[in-house]
Amino acid sequence: MKQDEFPARDLQDDRVTNELLHNVHPTDWRNPKPADQYNLVILGAGPAGLVAAHEAVALGAKVALIERNLIGGDRLNVGCVPSKAIIRTSRLYAEMRDSEKYGAQMPDRIDTDFARVMARMRRVQAHLSRADSVQRLSEEGVDVFFGEARFAGLSSVAVGGERLHFKKALIATGARPLTPPIPGLAEAGYLTNENVFDLTVCPRRLMVVGGGPLGCELAQAFCRFGSHVIIAQDDPMFLPKEERDAAQILSDSLARDGVEIHLNTTVVAVRGEGARKIVDLVCDDDKFSVSVDEILTGIGRSPNVESLNLGAAGVAHDTQIGIHVDDFLRTTNPRIYAAGDVCLEHKFTHAAEASARLVVRNALFLGRKRLSALTIPWCTYTDPEIAHVGLYVREAREKAIPVKTFTILMHDVDRAVTDGEENGFVKIHVRDGTDRILGATVVASHAGEMINGLSLAIEAGIGLRALAKVIHTYPTQAGAIKMAADAYSRTLMTPALKSLSRRWLAR
Ligand SMILES: Cc1cc2nc3c(=O)[nH]c(=O)nc-3n(C[C@H](O)[C@H](O)[C@H](O)COP(=O)(O)OP(=O)(O)OC[C@H]3O[C@@H](n4cnc5c(N)ncnc54)[C@H](O)[C@@H]3O)c2cc1C
Repeated sequence: MKQDEFPARDLQDDRVTNELLHNVHPTDWRNPKPADQYNLVILGAGPAGLVAAHEAVALGAKVALIERNLIGGDRLNVGCVPSKAIIRTSRLYAEMRDSEKYGAQMPDRIDTDFARVMARMRRVQAHLSRADSVQRLSEEGVDVFFGEARFAGLSSVAVGGERLHFKKALIATGARPLTPPIPGLAEAGYLTNENVFDLTVCPRRLMVVGGGPLGCELAQAFCRFGSHVIIAQDDPMFLPKEERDAAQILSDSLARDGVEIHLNTTVVAVRGEGARKIVDLVCDDDKFSVSVDEILTGIGRSPNVESLNLGAAGVAHDTQIGIHVDDFLRTTNPRIYAAGDVCLEHKFTHAAEASARLVVRNALFLGRKRLSALTIPWCTYTDPEIAHVGLYVREAREKAIPVKTFTILMHDVDRAVTDGEENGFVKIHVRDGTDRILGATVVASHAGEMINGLSLAIEAGIGLRALAKVIHTYPTQAGAIKMAADAYSRTLMTPALKSLSRRWLAR
């Protein structure tokens, strides 16, 4: 969404929108006079650019931050924040419809007020925009420039008719939705994450193209708002990177919600018929069509590299991987680094922020921090959530690492049962013969919270033996992690130890 594209809304909503705009791109903003030279010029004010700016200025650097659209990037404006805000409301609707399961009375009618859902989402965005507002950045001493940034040479960037000279620069220009090459799609019109949060009416019938995190999260949310959602995924399962049983639980959960699922199915053409869009699909040799009001695509992300004049800066790149970086996140121009979605395989806010921190240390000081040393977890915020950290079993096998897995099903976890959230599991993979955690997958109502304990364990080198000694509060769903650690501890009880113990007790 561009600054001048905020749709008109009612008065209270206008106030919220104005606050958001005031924080992320004030209409009366005047770019400052550039300093003679900056320690760090940052291109892009999404999570990566913002973290780098806050950190570098706190360490005493002279910093310029350039943003062509809205401060906060995808996270605040068209990604994590709006999606998680509407997902929260959609969960509430699902719980209300499920109220009898919890022994509560089913309300007579549950109608979705979509306008209110979206109004709350904008209030959440406005609230969270305060932390990274342009005013706060300026007070900290960051020179904020609005405009399109383009390299003007090996050590300078042009923006808004000015030239900024730098000792070091950080490219943090993020990524945008990939456009699917489907004949007729562009003519018929479609939604991406860049405009789906501008909807004012919930589509009666919604086609979601792509069963990755974005497609699955929004398919479930819109279904819970009352849309008839049809999702097509050209793989045999959703979230193809995740473990099969995790993806299967998600598939079952979407089906229970009422999402019409088409796996192994490709969208081959789209055509408009009045206000409707007709989508042609192919599954094996079966061809069929569906008629919908809107089409939402979520098939991947394309790094924002094209408009940066990277040739002038000597920065190698391509349009698929993005900026080419080494393990220290340095580009082919030793003065220029990259962080976040524009160069990383894992396109997440926390990965963007961690990579930006790494760049500040490596670029401005004598840091030698490596990207490959970071432990990066991730989570898909469906219901249940699917979170992962470290190696998958298949990756361990590819590396010829012997693996033993400890699995706890959530229906054996007291708190999951009392919460009525027993769908899922905790799986912890260790190097066989040791308690060293290689990786873990958690499928649970709040798996995104639970995975952090396991990331901590991996990062700090804490094994299952130590985790088994950690007293967990009872009853919690995170107790499943302790149960997995206890299962590991029981394997230490060899037959020899058991017989020794029996003989001792029989004295
Ligand atoms: C629908 C959706 C949901 C998501 N949910 C999650 C989630 O739950 N958890 C999670 O961790 N991640 C999530 N993500 C991913 C997350 O939003 C991104 O990984 C994160 O925003 C990347 O940060 P970044 O700083 O690298 O890039 P961006 O956030 O894309 O920011 C880049 C900024 O650079 C600016 N820019 C680009 N080119 C130029 C230029 N030439 N000059 C000046 N400025 C420029 C852009 O306008 C933008 O503001 C989600 C993404 C989407 C789309």
